[in-house]
Amino acid sequence: MSQRLRHLTTLEHLPRDTIERLLDRAETMRDGCAHGTRKLDLLAGRTILNLFFEPSTRTRTSFELAARRLGADVVNFDIGFSSTSKGEALFDTLHTLEAMHLDAIVVRHKVSGTPDELVRHAMSGVSVVNAGDGNRAHPTQGLLDALTIRQHRPDFAPLTVVICGDVKHSRVARSDVHALGGLGVKEIRLCAPRALMPEPSEFPQCILTDDFDAAVESADVVIMLRLQKERMAATDLPDEAAYFERYGLDKRRLERAARGALVMHPGPLNRGIEIASEVADGPQSRILEQVGNGVFVRMAVLAEVLGR
Ligand code: ASP
Repeated sequence: MSQRLRHLTTLEHLPRDTIERLLDRAETMRDGCAHGTRKLDLLAGRTILNLFFEPSTRTRTSFELAARRLGADVVNFDIGFSSTSKGEALFDTLHTLEAMHLDAIVVRHKVSGTPDELVRHAMSGVSVVNAGDGNRAHPTQGLLDALTIRQHRPDFAPLTVVICGDVKHSRVARSDVHALGGLGVKEIRLCAPRALMPEPSEFPQCILTDDFDAAVESADVVIMLRLQKERMAATDLPDEAAYFERYGLDKRRLERAARGALVMHPGPLNRGIEIASEVADGPQSRILEQVGNGVFVRMAVLAEVLGR
């Protein structure tokens, strides 16, 4: 069996049995806390810091809920109220916070690689969990997406998954590819307009295309991504109506996918830009299940890195 993780900064190169262990553990958490109505005391007496340098709704709330449901104390460090806005260096901030005694840091930062930097600079004994860094990785999103798929399609081997939208700037796409590739999904298709397509050399295991109608054909899972304007050059920004026409998921396009295909989106949704409300709120949508699974996956990850 693979070793327990002390940090989680990416899913890249994680052994399959580690990914599976985390998914199994997330399900145990779900049952153990009776779908969120009961608290566990696995992390009683431990302190977890949420260090968010970028805005977040779902991820931050669900890390906080996860920590509280495990009985840990949680401190939220908000960039808007911190000395970082006065120019305090990241590592000074880290050491100041560490001096108050912490067991784990959950970090989100716009610069790719920040969580690994923190691992290098953190005091020994402090675990680091990545809650999204630049366009590089969002490992707990990759895990919760895999868990959501597994609950409906327990065998990954025959699955075709299409991930469509702003792949170039998406840390979710990267972590999904690492998770689903690691779990043995048959085919992963990445679909984006040319300006939002990553370098093919980054995804040698995937099929890259700019034709969504072709990409969605017979897919078992359709994961839609947001246009991440905050990371885009102005020249890359597509006309939104034209974008929806070619890359938006509506009912008509979804009919090309396999019967009962799962529709997913990490949120926040841009309705009418990458996804139509009739699909986002339709019977095939798993979007709210993803949100619910996020808490159990984050409980599993915190319990893993802080396990004694
Ligand atoms: N919430 C996800 C992220 O933080 C997806 C997105 O922002 O579009 O990457």
